[in-house]
Amino acid sequence: MSSRSRVAVVTESNKGIGFAIVRDLCKKFSGDVILTSRNPTLGQEAVKKLNPLFHQLDITDPQSIRTLRGFLKERYGGVDVLINNAGMAFKIADTTPSPIQAEVTMQTNFFGTRAVSAELLPLIKPQGRVVNVSSMMSVLSLKKCSPELQQIFRSDTITEEELVGLMKKFVEDAKNGVHQKEGWPNTAYGVSKIGVTVLSRIHARQLNEQRKADNILLNACCPGWVRTDMAGPKAPKSVKEGVETPVYLALLPPGVTEPHGQFVSEKKVEKG
Ligand code: NDP
Repeated sequence: MSSRSRVAVVTESNKGIGFAIVRDLCKKFSGDVILTSRNPTLGQEAVKKLNPLFHQLDITDPQSIRTLRGFLKERYGGVDVLINNAGMAFKIADTTPSPIQAEVTMQTNFFGTRAVSAELLPLIKPQGRVVNVSSMMSVLSLKKCSPELQQIFRSDTITEEELVGLMKKFVEDAKNGVHQKEGWPNTAYGVSKIGVTVLSRIHARQLNEQRKADNILLNACCPGWVRTDMAGPKAPKSVKEGVETPVYLALLPPGVTEPHGQFVSEKKVEKG
């Protein structure tokens, strides 16, 4: 396994922060960097601008994730760096009914990230690094949850099944128009990112329990408010600045033991 090339994978990286992470890793990571995109045409166009490898990946399509998994296993015997960057947000002006927005946002940001993790975490090699791109919105949205929900999300013993149940409940509550009455904040994006942040803590705990000696470090992070198609031109950070924290976490040197299971912003652990 260790004799093969090292490999870093960035989900949905044909543009925005993901593309800039690939660009940075092409310079700084010693090994192959794989740019992925759900749309092969957009992916191939992005690849022409850099020099990474390309693989199709749609994080909402289980077969697409399994195909990538098979490729990584066969060609590299595992994964050294995984950056779960893929994510989406509806624009404020979007007229899609809010129950559908809740469902689509949750399916992509939380369930898509979870599906990729389920397939690729078992492939992470010793000293591997996993970065889940969450958002400061997860911290802000958590503070707006009911005290009961906050307690559950902050618990050190919350299980993945409990978290999945709560993310599904949010979507159901949103569909029934009762999410705020049920203690949720009025933001599907924020709740989906709470899911990503808490999932990261759970996965880090599982790594401690099952593969402690492998010293894999897994963290969630916020890139900051970055000028991309998602955040728009008024955001204060350039994409170059936005990738600093994710790339820092992806390249934590061998032997380092922290951060792990944390939410990191501006390269510092943030206590939610
Ligand atoms: P962009 O919108 O610029 O890029 C998002 C990427 O995700 C694109 O490759 C896009 O592919 C893909 N994508 C978009 N919608 C979907 C979908 N429905 N299903 C699957 N893939 C999709 O976003 P950013 O670069 O700004 O965001 C990257 C990550 O950073 C996200 O997780 C975001 O939540 C997070 N983030 C961003 C912040 C910011 O200020 N920009 C702040 C905090 C967090 P395609 O080209 O095919 O649409």
